[in-house]
Amino acid sequence: MSGEDTLDVIVVGAGLAGLACAYEVASAGLGVAVLERGDAAGSKNLSGGRLYLEPVRELCGDLLKDAPFERSVVSDSIVFCDEKQSMTLRVDQDHNSASPHSVTVLRAKLDQYLADKVSQKGAMLLVQQQADSLLIEDGQVVGVKVGPEELRSRVVVGADGVLSFLAQEAGLRSRRPADNYAIGLKEIIQLDSNLIEERFNVSAGQGSARLYVGAVTSGLPGGGFIYTNSQSLSIGLVVGMQATQNWKSESAIHDLQEAFKQRPDVAPLIAGGKTIEYGAHLIPEGGSKALPAFGIPGLLLVGDAAGLVINTGTVLRGMDLALASGALAGRSILTARAAEMNAADTVAHYTSALQQSFIMRQLHTHRKAPSVLAQGRLYRRYPPRLAGWAADLFEVNTAGESTSFKKAFKHLRRKVLGFRGYRDLWRLIRM
Ligand SMILES: Cc1cc2nc3c(=O)[nH]c(=O)nc-3n(C[C@H](O)[C@H](O)[C@H](O)COP(=O)(O)OP(=O)(O)OC[C@H]3O[C@@H](n4cnc5c(N)ncnc54)[C@H](O)[C@@H]3O)c2cc1C
Repeated sequence: MSGEDTLDVIVVGAGLAGLACAYEVASAGLGVAVLERGDAAGSKNLSGGRLYLEPVRELCGDLLKDAPFERSVVSDSIVFCDEKQSMTLRVDQDHNSASPHSVTVLRAKLDQYLADKVSQKGAMLLVQQQADSLLIEDGQVVGVKVGPEELRSRVVVGADGVLSFLAQEAGLRSRRPADNYAIGLKEIIQLDSNLIEERFNVSAGQGSARLYVGAVTSGLPGGGFIYTNSQSLSIGLVVGMQATQNWKSESAIHDLQEAFKQRPDVAPLIAGGKTIEYGAHLIPEGGSKALPAFGIPGLLLVGDAAGLVINTGTVLRGMDLALASGALAGRSILTARAAEMNAADTVAHYTSALQQSFIMRQLHTHRKAPSVLAQGRLYRRYPPRLAGWAADLFEVNTAGESTSFKKAFKHLRRKVLGFRGYRDLWRLIRM
């Protein structure tokens, strides 16, 4: 590509956010290049793997049509654990499979499918091309540098993920406090689809999502997850970065993952499976209080680069926010072009579109979640006590001192509830 040409849009990063943006602008006939440093779209992307479709059905329905989803999630479980025992709360729902509420995905497959769709709309997908710096003239971003080459465009979209150097170079994210991030580790274990359906008690094509809280992170803020794909399981851990500062060894999270897989309530689920992928990645979990400005003239930030992730403790969402923010950025670029807005007004238009969307409304609703969920005792104190309490319900002995139900109730009142328990419950409810 010639360094002399000025494109309409350069998108940096072929993740969900970048591809959703490129799809919008390429569909309208604009000249778009998508730069991806990896060998292919999705090759460097990592996600637990549950995509909530409901929020993006309207904004990205056409892009996601016929996408290679793995399974529709119809069963959710939360597992409260101590070292040896656990208590599982399982919710099964009869979701209409023609229009699932959420699905499991494998990013390498999904991102490549979306990239092909974006290319079919006329966008240039340039893989193994890393944007090294921004081109800034008179306070406005006018392109990026790729090695020695300068690529110019009217708008640059920063879709370069959680460590966005574009955001940093533009002065939008200078501080990176550890409590704004979590570290996630994920492994994909290949397993026969019949075994998956048998072990997770779901029908063909249907899927299960299991969250683990407590001993799986050694009582640190975070949790474990298992998602069922068509012929594999995604299993991993997310741990708040702040809590990892005392770790003495770099392999601590890998050791936790090994212990997670060996748990008596996990090992039978993955038995006979073969690890085919393994990776670690950061997650921006600072919530609404840690968001940067969403652009400067000539530059718009989308997805993780803009810090758009919601973690409510039971739901972790970044993918739908990435898709939606990418689509909104694309639409703002088109509106700005039609109305002949200047670069500063384009940023203002995109910011206002985000603010009026479900993204900012829901980030605001959950604004207290990051600080509430950072409380270590939620993970150290309650999951083992809940697991112990549930075990009491089923205890049979020869002492005959009390019925197991009475004993369990006492245990619940003394060890799980109590003043602190009610206070923490109140905070969780108001989060
Ligand atoms: C372990 C884990 C579990 C998660 N679980 C879930 C879940 O179940 N559900 C959910 O919704 N979200 C989940 N998330 C969050 C979700 O994965 C992210 O929010 C989402 O992937 C963000 O998409 P994105 O397009 O903004 O960024 P990314 O997917 O990170 O894409 C960024 C792209 O930019 C490229 N890039 C970076 N720098 C450059 C450069 N200089 N030049 C060119 N290309 C560049 C990268 O190679 C990458 O392809 C999870 C995250 C992790 C780590």
